[in-house]
Amino acid sequence: MTTFQCQRCGTCCKQVGHLIQWIPLMLAAIFKPDASGACQHLRKLEDGTYECVIYEKRPKICRVEWVVKNRARSFGLDEQSMYDLSAHACKLLREENDHDTV
Ligand code: SF4
Ligand code: SF4
Repeated sequence: MTTFQCQRCGTCCKQVGHLIQWIPLMLAAIFKPDASGACQHLRKLEDGTYECVIYEKRPKICRVEWVVKNRARSFGLDEQSMYDLSAHACKLLREENDHDTV
């Protein structure tokens, strides 16, 4: 199984505010995005990468392995294809958002 390595650019976590209308209220309350749309739990580190300050307790939807294992079938995909799709979505998101300048 080929997964993908998160580069900790924080781009996906900066977007949750734009998804708020499609996610359950409880999740929205956890993310509680700021005015820019970034999750309240995202912190920038001195080396320019980001960390989730509730990483060990982050919601399931933030856990790629969980999403792959539990949601691949609903997309009609096997787990490898779901990992590939996740990696592709990550790449597109990073390309669309100049994460190095934020
Ligand atoms: S956009 Fe991709 S590389 Fe960046 S934090 Fe999210 S999963 Fe990791
Ligand atoms: S809870 Fe953590 S992993 Fe999930 S969106 Fe917020 S910062 Fe990102």
